[in-house]
Amino acid sequence: TSRIVVVGGGLAAATAVTELRERGFAGSVTVVGVESRAPYERPPLSKGVLTGDEEPDTALVHPAEWYAEHDVELLLGEPATAIDRAARTVEVGDRQLGYDALLLATGATPRRLPAADDSGAPVLYLRTMEDSLALRATLAGGARTLVVGAGWIGLEVASAARRAGADVVMVDPAEAPLARSLGARAGAFFADLHRGHGVDLRLGTGVEGFRGGRDGAVVTLGDGTRVEADLVVVGIGVRPEVGLAQQAGLDTDDGILVDGALRTADLRVWAAGDVASHDHPMLGRLRVEHWDTAIQQGRHVARGMLGDVTPYAVQPYFFTDQYDWGMEYVGHCRPDDDVVVRGRPDSGLVLVWTRAGRVVAGMQVNDWDATDVLRRLVGAPAPAGLDDPDVPLAEL
Ligand code: FAD
Repeated sequence: TSRIVVVGGGLAAATAVTELRERGFAGSVTVVGVESRAPYERPPLSKGVLTGDEEPDTALVHPAEWYAEHDVELLLGEPATAIDRAARTVEVGDRQLGYDALLLATGATPRRLPAADDSGAPVLYLRTMEDSLALRATLAGGARTLVVGAGWIGLEVASAARRAGADVVMVDPAEAPLARSLGARAGAFFADLHRGHGVDLRLGTGVEGFRGGRDGAVVTLGDGTRVEADLVVVGIGVRPEVGLAQQAGLDTDDGILVDGALRTADLRVWAAGDVASHDHPMLGRLRVEHWDTAIQQGRHVARGMLGDVTPYAVQPYFFTDQYDWGMEYVGHCRPDDDVVVRGRPDSGLVLVWTRAGRVVAGMQVNDWDATDVLRRLVGAPAPAGLDDPDVPLAEL
């Protein structure tokens, strides 16, 4: 392998090329990114950057000059439009980039809400730095904000908006925030947290009608009530960016289908990060939309391209900050798993999910020592004393 091309200019792309150079790969490396910024991390976009505590450059994976210093060609501002797998080329503008190994790290894009888009009202989605800066400017004016979707993005936006002094209504058809990922019992904690900070949380009902203009929207909910807002923020999940892989004739489903080592059926083509639907040795087929997974998989693919082909077996890990609460989650649960809740919200909380007698995931809320214990427990049989609050977590 002497020519490596990476399509996607995000976190998985940047960590892959970092690992290639750190391992001494001396061939050519090209990164193609449609955004015009050098690769950056997205978590601050709904946290420090959104609240104004951090400036955009703090989110960069590397300072912009790092790429030239490491002989990495960054082609920004233009998409890769086609892959010819027989000729082993990627089309970017009028260039054909030849490759021996190709990483597809095209990420994901927000699912749209056409009724909101068509209403003419101010509607924002949050994926890019530009989205975050536009939202930050609007929140700073104390805009009455309707957040559609009480998932991770919606919850973090609600938290930032409350901090900016905005009135926030948040709507989700589920019975609790995050119910589709963590289950209703864990979700109830998030409902209490946000209501406690003044969010008007409407659960069990969706948005039905939008009327609006440049100054705002009047939104009718499924329960017949109406919400007036200056701004609508939609956070209803993402779609993996599989278009290029499909054009190249690669198998896609909910993501680009890759094996346990993150290779497509064409062994020269790999996928990593939000777009990769991979075959996890413990968890089965999985696509994970987490910051840590983008980093770990980017590095894993780089090692694989250099000949160290092994199964990707890292347990998913996720973090979030809302108000003055920090949380970390490890493993992979389903909404119908059993959950044990330990501790109290005011002093730190630990949630442990089990399925068929095994621990499948754990989460700590402001109890930072717990994460290492949870990492140890995930995958193991549920220990005796798990649901006994008198047994300290560390002794399980
Ligand atoms: P991306 O970061 O999406 O990068 C892919 C890039 O490829 C994009 O820039 C895209 O424009 C580009 N691209 C797509 N198609 C093409 C093409 N044909 N040619 C060229 N370029 C292309 N995770 C956590 O664990 N904790 C958090 O607190 C957290 N907070 C988040 C907050 C926000 C606002 C968002 C949006 C995400 C957050 N995440 C968080 C998720 C995390 O950021 C993602 O999992 C991570 O960014 C995935 O990295 P990626 O490289 O796979 O994809």
